Amino acid sequence: MKHETDVLVLGAGIVGVSAALHLQQRGRDVVLVDRNAAAGDETSYGNAGLIEVASVQPYLFPRDLGHLLRYALNRSADVHYHLSGLPEFGPWLLRYFMASSPESAARIAKAALPLIRQSLAEHEALIDEAGVPELLRKTGWIKLFRTEASFGKNVAELDGVKRFGVTADVLDNAALAAREPNLMGNFAGAIHWLEPGFIPDPGALVKAYAALFARKDGRFLRGDALTLRQQSGGWHITTDDGVVSAREVVVTLGPWADLVFRPLGYRIPLGFKRGYHQHFTSRGNAVLQHPVLDADRGYLLAPMNRGIRLTTGAEFARRDAPPTPVQVTRARALARDLFPLGEAIEPQPWMGARPCLPDMLPVIGKAPRHVGLWFDFGHQHHGLTLGPVTGRLLAEMMTGAEPFADPKPFALERFG
Ligand SMILES: Cc1cc2nc3c(=O)[nH]c(=O)nc-3n(C[C@H](O)[C@H](O)[C@H](O)COP(=O)(O)OP(=O)(O)OC[C@H]3O[C@@H](n4cnc5c(N)ncnc54)[C@H](O)[C@@H]3O)c2cc1C
Repeated sequence: MKHETDVLVLGAGIVGVSAALHLQQRGRDVVLVDRNAAAGDETSYGNAGLIEVASVQPYLFPRDLGHLLRYALNRSADVHYHLSGLPEFGPWLLRYFMASSPESAARIAKAALPLIRQSLAEHEALIDEAGVPELLRKTGWIKLFRTEASFGKNVAELDGVKRFGVTADVLDNAALAAREPNLMGNFAGAIHWLEPGFIPDPGALVKAYAALFARKDGRFLRGDALTLRQQSGGWHITTDDGVVSAREVVVTLGPWADLVFRPLGYRIPLGFKRGYHQHFTSRGNAVLQHPVLDADRGYLLAPMNRGIRLTTGAEFARRDAPPTPVQVTRARALARDLFPLGEAIEPQPWMGARPCLPDMLPVIGKAPRHVGLWFDFGHQHHGLTLGPVTGRLLAEMMTGAEPFADPKPFALERFG
């Protein structure tokens, strides 16, 4: 085996596999390294499967008293926190709160907009090349509201985002029943976001992209990013096939990116919003046609190939603290009133961690103090969505091409 390559990409989730494909497309020889034996087995496996081309507003820290009090009580299904972890993530939460002011949110949304709006097209190109059209369903997704207040607020916000070309239908109970006949309950209303894609097996999609990379002579090797060394003008990593060296290295380790950047002396405010899922059978002949977010109750049901996947909102905790799936327990009880869920398919919920920067934007670009080191991580709630499009942006920057979007808002230098 050749032990030299142009670029080492560390971490084979959706972000790493996409970056590897885009670099390869631009003529680079790439070795993709992961500590797991296969790609797409971590955060990129366990998400809700939405390609969020309509999410032109970031996920803000709530600023109204009602939400803050509800979250502080720590009993809701959508948000949970570990009191013991507060000293660690409290300062991060404060930065997140500050970045959620209306002015800052508008700036962040503007920076992310070109990426978000191009996200589905980039997936479609890769899905086509990988030959897996069955892994993309163009159903959009449905957001349900239990109260007139939240429904009214969201409909008003919808008017604000239509100027970006976003399309959605506002549904009353009858229109909702026509699209989702098996939902139970009386709702204030719903919004059907029409454009987003839905991936019924996100792990399989990452594996299909990794297989495409391999078909085009890309190499996937098992190795630990902790063995990365910079020496004599290059980067070296120990893999199961020996040491591999490259001029350049990209860190796409998602929630584990700190394993590389911290020892190199970078202080980057990477935080975590942990999340859970569990799959369920459906009772009788009940079918769910779209992913459905029960917005006021804070959980989502997605019709995955494996079963109905119930996903939870954010849990603030240390990344490696033992799982505390109370949100699954709470949401499961609520979800049984919404849809005829049957038995749990796995005995225990899955847990992952969304890698998040407090300003809700990923870090994409050159590491300022190390030649040949690049970052591409922190895709928060939208990593499945943004993997391919940020892979393209990164590859354009690395190969000296004209970036299709302004990369400055994603530079590490924004943290000083
Ligand atoms: C419950 C939930 C629901 C979500 N829903 C959505 C959604 O609907 N749409 C959306 O767009 N996003 C969603 N997300 C977010 C999305 O899943 C993440 O942003 C995305 O998966 C991050 O991808 P990644 O490639 O950066 O990280 P990962 O997929 O975690 O990949 C990182 C890789 O690094 C590897 N690694 C770690 N340590 C080492 C090491 N020491 N050496 C070598 N390799 C290592 C891991 O094995 C892994 O393969 C959701 C997340 C959660 C938790």
